[in-house]
Amino acid sequence: MLTFQCLLTGQIKERLKNQVIQMKEEVPGFIPGLAILQVGNRDDSNLYINVKLKAAEEIGIKATHIKLPRTATESEVLKCITSLNEDLTVHGFIVQLPLDSENPINTETLVNAIAPEKDVDGLNSISAGKLARGDLSNCFIPCTPKGCLELIKETGVQIAGRHAVVVGRSKIVGAPMHDLLLWNHATVTTCHSKTANLNEEISKGDILVVAIGQPEMVKGEWIKPGAIVIDCGINYVTDDTKPSGKKIVGDVAYKEAKERASFITPVPGGVGPMTVAMLMQSTVESAKRFLENFKPG
Ligand code: NDP
Repeated sequence: MLTFQCLLTGQIKERLKNQVIQMKEEVPGFIPGLAILQVGNRDDSNLYINVKLKAAEEIGIKATHIKLPRTATESEVLKCITSLNEDLTVHGFIVQLPLDSENPINTETLVNAIAPEKDVDGLNSISAGKLARGDLSNCFIPCTPKGCLELIKETGVQIAGRHAVVVGRSKIVGAPMHDLLLWNHATVTTCHSKTANLNEEISKGDILVVAIGQPEMVKGEWIKPGAIVIDCGINYVTDDTKPSGKKIVGDVAYKEAKERASFITPVPGGVGPMTVAMLMQSTVESAKRFLENFKPG
């Protein structure tokens, strides 16, 4: 049976595919371009990049994977970023994180070197600043929180005026999720590792988004009955029943939480596929903006 999130990601991809066909009809020869810059060879990064490349292909986006060796230095990676900033066939690009390098490389420096108009991961300071100020019309939003918001909206719940609780404050998930919910007019509490009485805070959430990287830490009994629960966690735990000896679980104890929540995303198969769909959406948006600014003729 197809789940809610499967149907939603399928619909988004179909819509993007049609938008790309339309762009190609309007400007013959034009292809939206996405580049993924990887440093090193982490297994998880390789896996995620393959998923992104496959999604791009399905939609009609030309995706390029640039893989630099672990020996690459910060200045070599920056040179690559500069050339992607200048490449008119690339409308969006991302640096796959975390980096896998033998050399000290400042991730912030790299991310901030990406031209804001191509920052489809929404991680540089200009994108983050716009989001923090509620300037949502003209900025790229990090793909995971963007996907979480889509999922929340799709449940039909009214966000304005509701109490949202975000657990985690990373630049990639928690902090932008806080901003997004705030500017969608929720009253937002953001929790982190120093939050006192975490379970009490969580129990106030009509909408709960968890991104902590702690396997099944959020217990079912902490959840407000009827809450919308979005679990971003991806944690590998031992499972002797699996040939690999491990399985993936979220940050929320799914079975218990399902009994109390009105909606909960599963792990795997919930937020992950939406994150990829959102990267594609941001790339198509960026390509559209490019065409608006550089209409041939
Ligand atoms: P980070 O490690 O960067 O941030 C974790 C956050 O959780 C921090 O703010 C930390 O607090 C907080 N935290 C950690 N432990 C606790 C605790 N015991 N109680 C309360 N807060 C806690 O992780 P990410 O944000 O990058 O990722 C979070 C999870 O989401 C991971 O499992 C990751 O794999 C997953 N993820 C999934 C994606 C997807 O596509 N589905 C994309 C990105 C991430 P403090 O700031 O105080 O240290």
